[in-house]
Amino acid sequence: MQSVQEECRECCDGRGGGDGEIKVRNRAVPVMKNGGGGREEDVGKESLMMELTRLVQKVIKESSWWERKGVDCSILTASFLCLPPAFLLLGSSQLLWFMLGMLLMGLAHAVINVKGTHLASHGALSESQTWGRFWAIFFIEICGSFSAEAGMHGHIKMHHAHTNVIGLGDSSIWKVPFLPRIVYLFIAPLSVPVITPLVALAHLKGHSLGVVVRTVLMIALGLYSQYWLLINISGFRSVHGALFCMLVCRAMLSVPYIHVNIFQKLDKEIGP
Ligand SMILES: [Zn+2]
Repeated sequence: MQSVQEECRECCDGRGGGDGEIKVRNRAVPVMKNGGGGREEDVGKESLMMELTRLVQKVIKESSWWERKGVDCSILTASFLCLPPAFLLLGSSQLLWFMLGMLLMGLAHAVINVKGTHLASHGALSESQTWGRFWAIFFIEICGSFSAEAGMHGHIKMHHAHTNVIGLGDSSIWKVPFLPRIVYLFIAPLSVPVITPLVALAHLKGHSLGVVVRTVLMIALGLYSQYWLLINISGFRSVHGALFCMLVCRAMLSVPYIHVNIFQKLDKEIGP
């Protein structure tokens, strides 16, 4: 079993999430833990993993550039293109246009935050390691207000390496069992934009000073950029108004996001 998990990690460390560079080291002799019976089981799992990898690579080989990268890059580009009109609409004195600007910015932020950070954490946005690193910092730290190191470790080494293993591979990070159900489902998720950078800071413990300083600066840059644009482009006159607008836009889709997260976990626990 252990060898299969290691293989999974290597597969993910091979930065193979979206663009097909899955690298699996074929270990002929799996790690023994349970005597002879365990060995047969391990060999079976090992060959299943190899079979899965072979099928994934076959699909990737048969896919076009558009299927592998084009669709995702177009969606991300469209989201970034929504931002200028959103900032301009937020400067409108007409309630309807203002609300439309809010909606547009909330949707764009959610797509950039979820899709961009996911692709970047897999290194799927570029073949180059340097550019992959750049995109990870840009999407996870500047756009997502989180730590690139913690995000990639949590998603690649924990979530994908232990898919469907509750407590290790489930992506349910929203665990606040002492809250009443309604508060937990509909009110508390609205605080996610505030909690996220704080959790990121907590994850920086043990990292080098350079990583800590970079992460803090990048998160601050992302938050300040949006604030600056709201003041200077949208024409917000009060600090509180701009900050409240940022909170609403960033929290807008956190309720459905948390719901999907919870139901995904329930599906794994209860099964079909
Ligand atoms: Zn993933």
